[in-house]
Amino acid sequence: MICPHCRTAIRVACQFIAFHMTNDQGQHAVAAYQCPECSGVIVDLVLGANPRAQGFLADPSQGFATTDSMTTIYPRSSSRPPAPPEVPRSYASDYNEAALILADSPKASAALSRRCLQHVLQRELNIKKNNLAQEIDEAIKHVPSHVGEGLDEVRRIGNFAAHPKKSEASGEILEVEPGEAEWSLDVLASLFDHVFVGPAKMRARKAALEAKLKPAGR
Ligand SMILES: [Zn+2]
Repeated sequence: MICPHCRTAIRVACQFIAFHMTNDQGQHAVAAYQCPECSGVIVDLVLGANPRAQGFLADPSQGFATTDSMTTIYPRSSSRPPAPPEVPRSYASDYNEAALILADSPKASAALSRRCLQHVLQRELNIKKNNLAQEIDEAIKHVPSHVGEGLDEVRRIGNFAAHPKKSEASGEILEVEPGEAEWSLDVLASLFDHVFVGPAKMRARKAALEAKLKPAGR
């Protein structure tokens, strides 16, 4: 499994506890793990039938004769991968939080994404206009076309024309249109790739090339 705390691939036994609680979903159990890398604790809710072992098990599927489902209930985690390591912390933390709350509050998620998007445009691309809609307009002229199309769609799908506050106060929590919060995250991810990840990879490749071309012994 991948530790949701530190994202390291780990192999670790779990402590499996089956409860005497059965309903139409099955019998309930929990499996808890501790990550050997970061000491973080992970808890899965396990649903199955016919318990056959408890205590420390190599794998929670050994706990029931038939296992129907396993869901990580702690820590809360997002179905999206976190922002890549090349992304500066302030932007990464807004993005990761927007991804984490996406299912519970698309409105709050979209507000965080809009604010993060505006900060990247203003601080990284030096685009400062009266509002986010105008900044997107300007950004489209400077980014690759696939990123620009995504940005344009943020305005369209979010219906900025009908909700001017989305543009004027980008972090304000306002009603969202279907798909708007997910789309805002997708576009942020592609902007991160263009602004941070791509250039960092190119620098690494150049450094590797220069190291190779350097005559030995110098
Ligand atoms: Zn860990």
